[in-house]
Amino acid sequence: MEVVLQNLTKKFPSRDRKNRGDVVAVSDFSFEIPDGELIGLLGPSGCGKSTTLNLISGLQKPTSGRIFFGEDDVTDLPPENRGIGLVFQNYALYPHLTVEQNILFPLQNLKGKDKLSKAEMLDKAYEAAKLVQIDELMERKPGQLSGGQQQRVAIARALVKMPRVLLLDEPLSNLDARLRLQTREEIRRIQRETKITTIFVTHDQEEAMSISDRIVVMKEGVVQQIGKPQDVYDDPTNLFVAKFLGTPPVNVFKGQIKDGRLYIGEDAVLDVKGLSEKEVYVGIRPEGFLLQENGPLCCKLNRVEVMGRDKSVVAENKASLNPAIRAIIGSENNINIQQGVVRFSLLPRKVFLFDKETEERIKL
Ligand code: ADP
Ligand code: MG
Repeated sequence: MEVVLQNLTKKFPSRDRKNRGDVVAVSDFSFEIPDGELIGLLGPSGCGKSTTLNLISGLQKPTSGRIFFGEDDVTDLPPENRGIGLVFQNYALYPHLTVEQNILFPLQNLKGKDKLSKAEMLDKAYEAAKLVQIDELMERKPGQLSGGQQQRVAIARALVKMPRVLLLDEPLSNLDARLRLQTREEIRRIQRETKITTIFVTHDQEEAMSISDRIVVMKEGVVQQIGKPQDVYDDPTNLFVAKFLGTPPVNVFKGQIKDGRLYIGEDAVLDVKGLSEKEVYVGIRPEGFLLQENGPLCCKLNRVEVMGRDKSVVAENKASLNPAIRAIIGSENNINIQQGVVRFSLLPRKVFLFDKETEERIKL
């Protein structure tokens, strides 16, 4: 099912007595989500992810704008008539019901032509349970399950009516690191198998990057960039997006464009012919530093961390906005820590320039 958001806006009255302006939780969000895609809605806490999801589910009404599922304008439909499945961070299972009864629950309220016989309901519940691999646990109560299993039950319950759209709000946040990894792969597999258009909310960039067909990066209610995870990582539209994606994060320096060259401090690090002279922020991905004896960028060397496949060079530079610079280099490189300094050349496609005022990208 294609989902179309048209100029979606949600304002809340301010709770701050001194500041009477509205909080714009979602601002003029337009996006056509193609049928069958998994979209990762990504941004820091408070940027409007849950509000966006609640507008799509119908739990909240937009201040303006419209929402379509295919040809259907669902903007004024209550949640129960939209054909959605919802999963939240806290699994919200009924503690006194068994797994089977929890999954059956959404089917028992179907009325009229949608009403199912008991056998049909059980078939569907087992189908959903098999999909998330909890069909062996149907007699247990939620209290007898691990967090990961409980979240699977919640997902099965959201899937049992075969929703048109599946909406997941930070579904993995309550799980420990290993389960989080495992469950996100499960969600991806289930989504591929069912081909249900899915919107997955998270503040965790790695999570969003790893499972999404496309990510939407939000900041303060405003969509910053939409694209395939790799494309957004390689080609961020502004400093915020560049900083939000990637671990270790992008290294940011104060820089200057002068005489067709990019300067970091006194070091002329790249040729940037054709760009007008101005002060800029320079973002360099950790993999954009190349060790080179006479390399143009000189940094104070602090330490080298061995990470198995890679080494992480931790250094300092006066023009860096972060106290420590992190460069990732292959483990075959040897660095003498006694040198006290390290010199790099830069991989141009891993270097991003941003206007110092607007923080928008200046293309090389
Ligand atoms: P996220 O899910 O990205 O953390 P939310 O969508 O929950 O962000 O919130 C976005 C903004 O809207 C925040 O500033 C939040 O304080 C505000 N907000 C959310 N819900 C309400 C509400 N019911 N009343 C007032 N402000 C709200
Ligand atoms: Mg939220």
